[in-house]
Amino acid sequence: MSKIPYKTYLSESEMPTKWYNVRADMKNKPAPLLNPGTLQPMTAQELSAVFCDELIKQELDNDTPFIDIPEEICDFYKMYRPSPLVRAYCLEKALDTPAKIYYKFEGNNTSGSHKLNSAIAQAYYAKKQGLKGVTTETGAGQWGTALSMACAYLGLDCKVYMVKVSYEQKPFRREVMRTYGASVTPSPSETTNVGKKILAEHPGTTGSLGCAISEAVEAATTTEGYRYVLGSVLNQVVLHQSIIGLESKLAFDKIGEKPDVIIGCAGGGSNLGGLIAPFMGEKLRGEADYRIVAVEPASCPSFTRGKFAYDFCDTGMVCPLAKMYTLGSGFIPSPNHAGGLRYHGMSSILSQLYHDGLMEAASVDQTSVFAAAQQFARVEGILPAPESSHAIRVAIDEALKCKETGEEKTIFFGLTGTGYFDMVAYQKYNDGEMSDYIPTDEDLAVGFAGLPKVDK
Ligand SMILES: *Cc1c(COP(=O)(O)O)cnc(C)c1O
Repeated sequence: MSKIPYKTYLSESEMPTKWYNVRADMKNKPAPLLNPGTLQPMTAQELSAVFCDELIKQELDNDTPFIDIPEEICDFYKMYRPSPLVRAYCLEKALDTPAKIYYKFEGNNTSGSHKLNSAIAQAYYAKKQGLKGVTTETGAGQWGTALSMACAYLGLDCKVYMVKVSYEQKPFRREVMRTYGASVTPSPSETTNVGKKILAEHPGTTGSLGCAISEAVEAATTTEGYRYVLGSVLNQVVLHQSIIGLESKLAFDKIGEKPDVIIGCAGGGSNLGGLIAPFMGEKLRGEADYRIVAVEPASCPSFTRGKFAYDFCDTGMVCPLAKMYTLGSGFIPSPNHAGGLRYHGMSSILSQLYHDGLMEAASVDQTSVFAAAQQFARVEGILPAPESSHAIRVAIDEALKCKETGEEKTIFFGLTGTGYFDMVAYQKYNDGEMSDYIPTDEDLAVGFAGLPKVDK
């Protein structure tokens, strides 16, 4: 057999034209979003003040396995997709491992990550509904960038609430968003009631994702013709991100390979949910088996140390409640944490799959993550995002285990993006000034104490 190529691409005509909804194959469906007032499942009607109608349908659809990708979105995807499935020959050689390592690289667009896959879908449905614009939050800025790109393409207005510390520390991200026409407000801000309240209670706060979400939701629900969009966590986002896994599966089939272990980083869970979707589908239907590993920062350990409970999705407690592995909506990672993936909760879909023992989770220290990032960058030629490097860490560890045991496992991980805007974190690492902080049980207890009392 001829050697497997370094990169496997699909042709345009081979690209998926439907998203795959893994919920259709789950025996235990993810728990529904609850109305925080009545504790009853949110109805489409109730959700329509916040989200676009078509996206609500997708959010609530636990049964339809395949959903058509509208032609206009397929065309947009063709600008920067398919993303390559890369055989990491150079990394394998550097590690001297008998394992085969593959990764799916999502960093080939200006947002530098997988987030554009869902941004274009959400913006498209907003436009189709005749809305004027959308609001959102962004942490480090990848989601805000992706959404501003999608909105610019479709001629929609885009208002981004950016976590204040990132707004100040990542001015270039901010300028990318403004170049695409978005307005960017540091959060918490004086422009919303919830922002004013948070500022009054915590003067000098540098903000958090949960807080920026509250502001963006308020801005959407109080501005005519606007809805709110979210870059991860929600079922609809996992659905859109299934394009990553579907392309990967087709590419593996093309080269006649099958991964043994699939590894992805987990922030809110959308990239991992999308990466594993078709593989998990086979596992759920009993057609194949895969080991699936979610990797999270030791400083924000939702899966490995969180509770499976209903929680607020935001700090201001204006959003519906979601059942998920969570550290509590008041949890804020230690300020020395630099590697992203800092959301307090995890997608309800992944939470249910993890709870049912269908996937594993691992947590890793940030210094070991940056060591893996550096090792990867030096041989594979891509400067990885710190988020993605959580997956690289565990992939390398798996490959090193194979070196000991002599096993020729096929390891597959999601390389979600590039790290060009994360050079301050890289600098800290390079200067030997990065440290690890692992929250104590007492630290975590503070977040858990804020969980709502829901008997479900
Ligand atoms: C946002 C982001 C993540 C986290 O993605 P989730 O889908 O929320 O888990 C991972 N990697 C990169 C590069 C990102 O920008």
